[in-house]
Amino acid sequence: MEILKAKNLSKQFGKFKAVDNVSLSLQEGEILGLLGPNGAGKTTTIQMLLGVLTPSKGEVFYFGKNLKNHREEILEEVNFSSTYTNLPWDLTVWENLHFISYLYQIENRKKRVEEMLELFKLKELQKHPIKELSAGQVTRLNVAKAFINFPKVLLLDEPTASLDPDVAGYIREFILEERKKFKVSIVFTSHNMAEVEELCDRVIFINRGKIVADDTPENLAKTIEVCHIELLVKQKEKLISYCKNNQLNFRQEGKHIIVDVKEKLIAEFLRNLTANAIEYDEISIEKPTLEDYFIQNAPKL
Ligand code: ADP
Ligand code: MG
Repeated sequence: MEILKAKNLSKQFGKFKAVDNVSLSLQEGEILGLLGPNGAGKTTTIQMLLGVLTPSKGEVFYFGKNLKNHREEILEEVNFSSTYTNLPWDLTVWENLHFISYLYQIENRKKRVEEMLELFKLKELQKHPIKELSAGQVTRLNVAKAFINFPKVLLLDEPTASLDPDVAGYIREFILEERKKFKVSIVFTSHNMAEVEELCDRVIFINRGKIVADDTPENLAKTIEVCHIELLVKQKEKLISYCKNNQLNFRQEGKHIIVDVKEKLIAEFLRNLTANAIEYDEISIEKPTLEDYFIQNAPKL
């Protein structure tokens, strides 16, 4: 079932078109990544999906119903996290979560708030006013708020911004676990390619307000032919001059040299190493990633 559908969304700020004819759809239990450089229009798109910004053109549907006419009913099932919303800075962490759970009329409010405090490691901070929290702690509180009402649809705008890598990893695992348990459908924005690759079933690349690609991370990476071959060689200089003579991109990482080779030319590359008496002690071949797709397409995007 189509959970969310946006049809030809555009947003104009004066003469500037921040979002330009964006259409997207989200299936039940799907995690969709909105990926793009700063200023691409991700936040503006999310805010139109949430109904906090009115589109200049286009429409948003949840569960087949138009957001314009079924706002209240829809927003009971939707929640969000955003780094840009203003939190009530004087309220404590506990008061904040309690207030949100009250707004959503959650049963067993106290228990649910306790649960969220535990899950997001906010217990020790529960009596602190939000204005005293670090950026990372605010991000954790925002994600806790987003999940507190067991939403059917979640719009997460950079939910791992300013988190330490281990906490970001914990949040990613949490998101995947919730999806498995509750089939929650998620739109997720990020500019961290590896994160999007790990989490998302499908990715939409957005640049200058326009969708430039919409596919699975695997399919996008597959359009890139270049693999990375990491070698530990006895004589570095020999390999480096071979790469230079054959116009192969390479970089050094500690003792290793990483060479970019087109997938179908790997066999030939390995034969040539032997023919040129370039010996290696270790070799590993890395498939292209979403990041490679982005780098290769960046000039066009
Ligand atoms: P992203 O989230 O992808 O970084 P945004 O959606 O925040 O991008 O912004 C897209 C573009 O729209 C940017 O150039 C931004 O400066 C512009 N923009 C966003 N909000 C406003 C606004 N309220 N008024 C004018 N311009 C805006
Ligand atoms: Mg943004």
